[in-house]
Amino acid sequence: MHEMFIQTEEQKAILETVKKFVDDVVKPVSVDLDGMGTPEERYCGDIVKEADKLGLRTMTLSEKYGGLSLDSLTTAMVVEELAVGDVGVSVVMAQTMKLATIMEKALNEEQAERTLIPYSKDPEAVLAIGITEPDNASNYFLPYPTPFRTSAEKVDGGYVINGMKHFISNGNRASYYLLFVQTDKGKPMLEGTTCFLLERGREGFTIGRVHDKLGENLANNAELIFQDCFIPDENIVGEVGKGFQLLQKFFPSSNSFAASSCLGVGVALYEKAEQWAKIRVQGGKPLIEHDGIRAQLGEMRMLLDAARSYTHRACYLADNQEQGWDWTLGALPKAMASQAVWKIATWTMEIHGGHGYMKEFGVSKLLRDAAGWLHSDGVNRTLFLKASNYMYGLDHYDKK
Ligand SMILES: Cc1cc2nc3c(=O)[nH]c(=O)nc-3n(C[C@H](O)[C@H](O)[C@H](O)COP(=O)(O)OP(=O)(O)OC[C@H]3O[C@@H](n4cnc5c(N)ncnc54)[C@H](O)[C@@H]3O)c2cc1C
Repeated sequence: MHEMFIQTEEQKAILETVKKFVDDVVKPVSVDLDGMGTPEERYCGDIVKEADKLGLRTMTLSEKYGGLSLDSLTTAMVVEELAVGDVGVSVVMAQTMKLATIMEKALNEEQAERTLIPYSKDPEAVLAIGITEPDNASNYFLPYPTPFRTSAEKVDGGYVINGMKHFISNGNRASYYLLFVQTDKGKPMLEGTTCFLLERGREGFTIGRVHDKLGENLANNAELIFQDCFIPDENIVGEVGKGFQLLQKFFPSSNSFAASSCLGVGVALYEKAEQWAKIRVQGGKPLIEHDGIRAQLGEMRMLLDAARSYTHRACYLADNQEQGWDWTLGALPKAMASQAVWKIATWTMEIHGGHGYMKEFGVSKLLRDAAGWLHSDGVNRTLFLKASNYMYGLDHYDKK
């Protein structure tokens, strides 16, 4: 089980290291942290520090910043392996590893040096991206011709930002953020949005509520609040009004990393279902010796393998776009993986019978963790619509 498309010795060595880390550091504390009282108490800060000792936090960066320049496919495998241990840990790390690579590519040299050098040296540093607002989520995924509410006024030497973002992964923990803001109120978000580099602690920027979630509890999600927050021109990423071009250019694998986190939960569920089917005896023999149960395990295996193959193909093509990339691959792998894993979650519960409903057997945590992926990184229906808009020429993507 848990077949990865490993092609190189380097990938094998990295994944063995991650698996050991998950077994030794993540699995022993995941359930206890998940059960803590407040969202902040559930955060996996100590695990991030341990991950840093192995170089996981910085491995997607280039050698210049102490990394290994990991490609999207290998990153996806690492993300999945982490999620087998705990999905929150996987999200904290995936968000950070993904944004580190994007920052290295999208920031100019001066911005990259002042951001990535301190980031790479701080073992607790994580990264975040702020796009979603209470009024705007599917609106920007599709996108619709409406503006963002969080907006910026041009002043001497920079911009003054007002508004708020919400649901932001690592929002209350990050050292640096990529923030998407409406800089031209008269235009739709597609044409009037600018991306800014935001540092933690900037005057006028505060953290609002830390959301209490159903699952994925070892990661924190928070509101970002801007009250007359001045951001200098030096922090504009790319060009003014070209925020969406940046998303299009630098985020092709993002959906696949979400799929990989979700697949890790699927693997953990499958392993639980298989283990239970081997030890639970009904009708005079273990459940696994009943044809119906064994067939269901086979179907679970198929769903995981198929969703993983799709995800890995998307990752490979995201990095090698001339070989056949298209934008359905930037929207659908997560939708497929989350649907597959949601099925696997409910079947695992069913195979456990009443035990599946009792917290002590651990299925209910995984079910809560699996549910998040139906909505995060884009609601599935929105992603289907986004992909089909692309297929039928109704999208706004630059096809070049
Ligand atoms: C755990 C988690 C982590 C997240 N992390 C981040 C983050 O780090 N950064 C960030 O910026 N955001 C983040 N988000 C936000 C996430 O991307 C949004 O929550 C998600 O896109 C859904 O937004 P919404 O709840 O506002 O749903 P809405 O967009 O309001 O959608 C509600 C429903 O309406 C449907 N719908 C919308 N438009 C249409 C249409 N045109 N036709 C038919 N149906 C439609 C949707 O499919 C959905 O079923 C996170 C969310 C979660 C849950």
